[in-house]
Amino acid sequence: MFNDPQDCGHGITRIDVHYIRPGLACCYLVVEQGRAVLIETGPQLAVPRLLKVLEQKNIARENVVAVLVTHVHLDHAGGAGLLLQHLPNAQLYVHPKGAKHLIDPAKLKASAITVYGEERFLQTLGGLTPIPANRVVTPKDEDTFLLMGREFQFLHTPGHAIHHQVVWDRTSRGIFSGDALGISYRECDGPKGRFLFPATTPVQFDPKNSLESIDRLLALKPERLHLTHFDSIPFDSNLMVDLKQQLEAYSELAWGIRADTLPDKDDRLLDGIKELSWQRLQAIGSPLNKDQSTELLSMDWGINVQGLNHWLNRLEQSLT
Ligand SMILES: [Zn+2]
Repeated sequence: MFNDPQDCGHGITRIDVHYIRPGLACCYLVVEQGRAVLIETGPQLAVPRLLKVLEQKNIARENVVAVLVTHVHLDHAGGAGLLLQHLPNAQLYVHPKGAKHLIDPAKLKASAITVYGEERFLQTLGGLTPIPANRVVTPKDEDTFLLMGREFQFLHTPGHAIHHQVVWDRTSRGIFSGDALGISYRECDGPKGRFLFPATTPVQFDPKNSLESIDRLLALKPERLHLTHFDSIPFDSNLMVDLKQQLEAYSELAWGIRADTLPDKDDRLLDGIKELSWQRLQAIGSPLNKDQSTELLSMDWGINVQGLNHWLNRLEQSLT
C-alpha cells in the first residue's frame, strides 16, 4: 500500500522495519554528503533490512556516524546492539536513563520474555545484543550535536516512558518523535484527515508528563512529524489538540473505574478507548469499518489499557 523505503525530502528516508506487520513501525535514514545517521532501529530482526537499504543507497557501513534512539522499547531500539556490530564508526545516542538497559540488556530481555514467551520473543524481535559502553553517548536535555555537519537536538520528553527523548531536526523542521506524539497508521487516513492516538504503554506511562512533553514540542513550531508508528507526516496542530484531549479522556476513563472491583473493569476501559477511536475514525471519513479498525488497532488498545492500569497502580500507591 506504500513505497518502501520512502524518500521524505531533506535527505531523510523512511524505512519500514516490518515489526509485526508492514506499516506498523519504521526507522529513518538521514544522509548528508555520503554519510548517514539512523534514527530508531526497529527490533533486532530488522537489522538485515537496514543494512540492505544502506547497500542499495551506496552508503558504506563505515560512513554511518550515529544511531539515535528515542527510547529503549524494543520496537525502537531492539536492533541497536547488532546494528552497531556492523557499523564500526557509529556511536549510539540514547537517553541517560535508558543507556544501561542497552549496554546490559538482561533486564529488557527478561521483561520481553515475560510478555511474549521465549519463542515469540525470538520470532517477533529476533533477540537482543549488548552494546559496549564506550560506544554509547547519553545526551542531556537540549544538547545539540553536529552530525555529518547537520544539527540534531535532543529533548527529554518523559510521559510515554521516563527514558524517552525526541530528536529535533532543524533542517527538516521535523521532530523524530518516537512515541511522544502518538501513533498514526496510514490505513486509517480519510478524506477529512488522519487519526492519531496516544501510546500509553506500560510500565512508566504518565499522562501529566506526556501532556507537558507535547506542549514543549509544540513550542518548536515543527513542520513535520517523523513518527515511528508510522511515517513522516506534515505537522498539524489540530492533531495535537486532539491527542491531548484523548490523553485526558483516557486518564479520566481509567480514573473513573479505578475503584471498581468488577472483573470486567479492563473490558470497560477498552470499550471506552475503542469508542473514542471509532468516533474519530468516522469524523475523518476513514475507509475502515468497525471490524477492520478493531483488527488494526486492538493490539495498541490492549497495550494502552495495560499502561493506564500501571499508571493508576502507581498513583494509588503514592496516595496511600
Ligand atoms: Zn513504539
